Amino acid sequence: MTIILPFSGGVTAYLSIILDWYRTTPYFCPLCKGKTHRHGKYLRTVYSQDECFIIPIFRRRCPNCRVTFSFIPSFIKPYARFLNSYRFALFQRHVVDGISIRQTPSYSSAHGMHSVSTCTFRRWLKRFKKIAPEVSKHLTTRLLELRPGLSIPKGLPDIAFVLNAGQVLNLIVQSLLPEEPLHSYGVFDMLNLLLPGNLLV
Ligand SMILES: [Zn+2]
Repeated sequence: MTIILPFSGGVTAYLSIILDWYRTTPYFCPLCKGKTHRHGKYLRTVYSQDECFIIPIFRRRCPNCRVTFSFIPSFIKPYARFLNSYRFALFQRHVVDGISIRQTPSYSSAHGMHSVSTCTFRRWLKRFKKIAPEVSKHLTTRLLELRPGLSIPKGLPDIAFVLNAGQVLNLIVQSLLPEEPLHSYGVFDMLNLLLPGNLLV
């Protein structure tokens, strides 16, 4: 089972503290509330706009439920190879700045870096479009909880709405709740900590 681990410090900070966290932080099984055991790690290669990182993903196991938990840091979506910040920048370039689908990936990566293929980017867009209405509902609810009476634009919720409303929510969280730990997360990191597992962006 994948658990998104709230982590606001970025990859370098993650690499420096995660082993300590794993060794010293107890984790109780979310299914039976029992103790879990350390269960090793695996390595993942992930890409930002201009760097490639190999990060360890640590695991724990519940002996009662026989379930293994993998802790994915919140700066990356489970199974994704590109950091949330990179994916967010890509969607922004295409949807907001109007760069073509074909040009967006190369436009968004440093020269010589591994960039997403046009085909993959198309697939991302297709999926995002599909989940945008549901994600928008969650976003709208959260925005109105924090700012009752906020005027939410009408019309068909789409990717542009999610990108825009996600940034507004991020700003509101920062300004309203400076103590709120979500304040230093990127937009997609924050959304993925709030959204149900089938709607991760
Ligand atoms: Zn359990």
